[in-house]
Amino acid sequence: MSSLLWTSLFAAALVASLATRAWLAMRQVRHVARHRDEVPASFAAALTLAAHQKAADYTLARSRLGQWQMAVGAVVLLGWTLFGGLDALNVAVRDATAARWGGLVYGVALVAAFTVIGSVLELPFELYSTFRLEQRFGFNRVTWKLWLADAAKSLAIGVVVGLPLLALVLWIMGAAGRFWWLGAWAAWMAIVLAAQVLVPTWIAPLFNRFEELQDASLVERIRALMARAGLAASGLFVMDGSRRSAHANAYFTGFGKARRVVFFDTLLARLAPAEVEAVLAHELGHFKLRHVTKRIAAMAAFTLVFFALLGWLSTRTWFFTGLGVGPNLGAPNDALALLLTLLVAPVFAVFATPLFSRWSRRDEFEADAYACAEASGSDLASALLKLHEDNASTLTPDPVYARFYYSHPPAVERLAALTRHTPIATAT
Ligand SMILES: [Zn+2]
Repeated sequence: MSSLLWTSLFAAALVASLATRAWLAMRQVRHVARHRDEVPASFAAALTLAAHQKAADYTLARSRLGQWQMAVGAVVLLGWTLFGGLDALNVAVRDATAARWGGLVYGVALVAAFTVIGSVLELPFELYSTFRLEQRFGFNRVTWKLWLADAAKSLAIGVVVGLPLLALVLWIMGAAGRFWWLGAWAAWMAIVLAAQVLVPTWIAPLFNRFEELQDASLVERIRALMARAGLAASGLFVMDGSRRSAHANAYFTGFGKARRVVFFDTLLARLAPAEVEAVLAHELGHFKLRHVTKRIAAMAAFTLVFFALLGWLSTRTWFFTGLGVGPNLGAPNDALALLLTLLVAPVFAVFATPLFSRWSRRDEFEADAYACAEASGSDLASALLKLHEDNASTLTPDPVYARFYYSHPPAVERLAALTRHTPIATAT
């Protein structure tokens, strides 16, 4: 391919992806605003008009922020690529490191510098989201002190854990010959699987406190549910999610001995024991129906394609020059190719979003059906309604927007399916 053709292809994909996303956002904004003044009939008994309007306003505010982020993101992407930002950074880092310390140090330094600059550019959005938007709707609990402590911890983890892993992957890329991408992929998968065990047990406790669930009757309920499902967990934990946000959640994580059930304190405070059980039954459903295994397998397949593509692209001059970057002559191009691929891949991946969303929504319906069989569908329905209200999720998304992006079915469809699964006799 000529580099001019590649530039044109990239530019066309960027314009098409931006147009698609802007069109969807516009649809969503219009639909939510149009339905702001009336609670949908099927929810009239469960939701006040004030709660419905808060959800609409929250959705609109997040959407506005998302559109700014999209616009700035596109400018930053063009700045890195066609306007020469990554090329300039590459030359500066290469001249400072490659001759004196070698190709590996240069590669790690380039990715680290890129990551730091990228994080700084995203900082205004993160701060605005936490301290203005979430604050305005009463969700934020993060203080400046906590935010700074979190940032310092994340940076430390990045240096202590991230840099050595990055060095390992770059080293394999440079040392493993023609099929390095297979070796790099295998190393990456090993890291991802290890993270399933290490993140819940070592990393997450650095940010939150996890305490054993104390409520004896709830513990008994959950143990009984897990026994019915044939799943064991090494612990039931309550996490102080309220330290950072009023949003509520529960999850089931890890595998083997590291497997644990985690409830946000915000969830336990809001839901009745039977509703907690139903929510957990849904999460267990994802495990029992092998959704989690399937997702890891799919992720493995996609990263393999990614590394194979990277292996091929890193040897094509047009891939670099077409994106405004001069490839290195006296130093390895692995880190540069990795960054360019990571920058460009999302532009093309946008168009696969509806497929993944659809797949995810199907899994959610299946997990709901599982929860209906193992716990109570009507409890799950009332829990979902409460969580929708507390999280200010809109009940009236634009149908096309929801088809494209939503990883969970819109509440109307989800509750309708739950009612189908729940025999009338047990619902009353
Ligand atoms: Zn789910």
